[in-house]
Amino acid sequence: MPELPEVEAVARALRPLVRGQRIRCLHVFHAIACKPQSPADVARLVEGRRVAEVFRRGKYLFLRLDRGLVEMHFRFDGQLIWFSGAKELLAKATAEADSIHVDLALEFGTGAMGFADQRHFGRLHAWETEAACEPLHRLGVDAFDRAFTAVLLHERASASKRPLKEFLLDQSRIAGIGNIYSSEALWHARLNPWQPANSLGRRESARLHKAIVYVLRRALECCQDPPPDFRDPKWWFQGLEAILRAYQREGLPCRRCRRPIQRVEQGGRSTYFCRHCQK
Ligand SMILES: [Zn+2]
Repeated sequence: MPELPEVEAVARALRPLVRGQRIRCLHVFHAIACKPQSPADVARLVEGRRVAEVFRRGKYLFLRLDRGLVEMHFRFDGQLIWFSGAKELLAKATAEADSIHVDLALEFGTGAMGFADQRHFGRLHAWETEAACEPLHRLGVDAFDRAFTAVLLHERASASKRPLKEFLLDQSRIAGIGNIYSSEALWHARLNPWQPANSLGRRESARLHKAIVYVLRRALECCQDPPPDFRDPKWWFQGLEAILRAYQREGLPCRRCRRPIQRVEQGGRSTYFCRHCQK
């Protein structure tokens, strides 16, 4: 599932392709991708509008329009695919054999941006104004924002009784961290995923803050080497396994103490950690 670093890499790669471009029209192949909005609603809000900026908040990607906003969330497998124009988009998305799965596409003068999620969890919505975009306002401080400091992390943690791992996944407190980077940050900070967030001292908060920022920055570097290539419908991030220390390393030796990494269900998700050095 794309988390902050992956979505940030997508935003950076998309920006030069669409910034300043006018949306000629919305193409709809699978209307489920804009639910509960209707394709007609989305078309009315985006067609004819110019993209003023591309930005990310948490795991969401946004196109700020000269009037209104496009909001995208990739969930598990969602991705963008770039086509040279409407002709290529229509030919490839509707081909009888070997067609490319596209749910929705925004056609620009310079090409077309396809939004695709074969499992249909990802969503693209349009909003009349930024103020009307509820998902944006539900998000807590972004983990890459300057306002996200060790002091702020300590404040937010102090107000939560939940286990640290679940606290980190709560997008309304800190936005951008998912299942992968929460396990990673806790491993780096040597903190137990079950420790109640409100028991975190100032020193531990500082350690966790440092670990979160380190893990996300390192992952972003990885996501940009090579950067996303939307022209290839099979593109996906490569090489992230090499930087992971806990996530999906069940049974493999901890890189600190050599004892095996464990995987345990926590809040319905898998948590990976070292029982020995995360006490
Ligand atoms: Zn260990």
